[in-house]
Amino acid sequence: MIKVASHLNHGTGRSCVITRRSTFSASHRYWLPELSLDENKARFGPCSFAQGHGHNYELIISMGGNLDSDGMVMNLSEVKHFISREVTDQLDFRFLNDVWPEFDISNSEGFLPTTEALAKTIWFRLSHYLPLVALRLFEADNLWADYLGDSMNAFLTIRTHFAAAHRLARVELTQQQNEKIYGKCARPHGHGHNYFLEITVRGEIDPRTGMVCDLAKLKSLVQELVVEPFDHTFLNKDISYFADCVPTAENIALHISDLLAGSVQKLGANLHKIRLQESPNNAAEVYAEQPILNMCPEQFTSQVNK
Ligand SMILES: [Zn+2]
Ligand SMILES: [Zn+2]
Repeated sequence: MIKVASHLNHGTGRSCVITRRSTFSASHRYWLPELSLDENKARFGPCSFAQGHGHNYELIISMGGNLDSDGMVMNLSEVKHFISREVTDQLDFRFLNDVWPEFDISNSEGFLPTTEALAKTIWFRLSHYLPLVALRLFEADNLWADYLGDSMNAFLTIRTHFAAAHRLARVELTQQQNEKIYGKCARPHGHGHNYFLEITVRGEIDPRTGMVCDLAKLKSLVQELVVEPFDHTFLNKDISYFADCVPTAENIALHISDLLAGSVQKLGANLHKIRLQESPNNAAEVYAEQPILNMCPEQFTSQVNK
């Protein structure tokens, strides 16, 4: 029999969020029987090809609650057991369209296994067993979905990059004054960065296509409005907005948010967040709408931060 000293409570009752990472590989195909071959191709591009295609998925599950008398939100061996039994053992090396009835498109209630629809489906399958607070599913290091259990609402993030030069200086100040504020970044001929840009949109998952918005259109929007005009430029001179606005990472992120918000709305989603990584050591995040409770990306150990 284990003797328990009554004054040792091991954090019992204090709250905490824990995360668990799992991986699986699976294939899928975007194709709807009510559309013709050409319509499927126009709507889903190469994702409609009959052979399907695959991804190495990474799933980050966040769980919250009060610590038990063992000092845990939930015993990790139980957490691992439920994730394997309910998700990864069922999905690994499978064709997603066939594996779960939710993705049976011959049924009118079925929907396509997109990243966001898969995240939502995994949430509902795990929520019976685990105290979920957030779930992130990476399809690749440049595409992931977040689902927080809020009915049909999901977040989709795409990641891209561009290279640009800038100089941090306020035109109304002297060189000496600018160097005092911006240091080396105020040197007269500028310097450059390889910027990584993450665009997060929020919206309802379409009950049939499983999509928050048309991903191909979102990607081309970002390409056309941001990457193409910004890439390989000197921001201060080539982008008119920065003629009289200092192109700090903060201001670049804000300007990108302003450039994208209206067009994302036209795709039927909402621009939620812009994250601009200027170097391995600094980044700026701008919320284009109210941050949603528990949407705390910093708590995830993600592919992109490796
Ligand atoms: Zn795919
Ligand atoms: Zn810089």
